[in-house]
Amino acid sequence: EINCEPLKDLIRTVPDFPKPGILFYDITTLLKDPAGFAQLIDAFAAHYIGKGIDLVLGTEARGFIFAPAIAYRLNAGFVPVRKPKKLPAETAKVSYDLEYGSDSLEIHLDAVKPGQRVLLVDDLLATGGTMQATVQLVEKLGGKVEGIAFAIELDFLKGRNKLEGYDVYSLLHYN
Ligand code: 5GP
Repeated sequence: EINCEPLKDLIRTVPDFPKPGILFYDITTLLKDPAGFAQLIDAFAAHYIGKGIDLVLGTEARGFIFAPAIAYRLNAGFVPVRKPKKLPAETAKVSYDLEYGSDSLEIHLDAVKPGQRVLLVDDLLATGGTMQATVQLVEKLGGKVEGIAFAIELDFLKGRNKLEGYDVYSLLHYN
């Protein structure tokens, strides 16, 4: 296993973004560091290589940064999950609750074939609502959720509880 702890030095925290009282974990400072970015992708790849992953799925927007790089390393395909009305062909859709109101995500109906082994990737696990919705989309299409991976997990928000029964793997944890 690759020790990712030093990568924490490359993540910037921004207080009061996007709202007062929220401490935002900014990964752009890690992404622009060639060695840091490579180490992060290597760590994901090392964990999932040989597990027969067919597809790596990333959720708009920051999931789009990591998922394609991981897919390339695993010889898997990449599937985008997007905000409403962005995907051109026929879609499946799920709605999920936010702190105020709700949002939805969509996937192309033919993006995952029944029985395909799918790895779901996002940059950060907070409350888990976004990833829970993504899991629902994949299962609607008959895909098998082989794993769920995050660069960062905010342990104190217990988002992992919403993903019970799935194999959740995060490279960096914050308490
Ligand atoms: P959740 O649905 O788990 O509450 O929120 C996770 C989603 O919100 C992820 O798609 C993630 O990109 C975004 N998110 C929430 N808080 C942060 C943060 O502090 N930093 C980053 N980079 N993304 C965040």
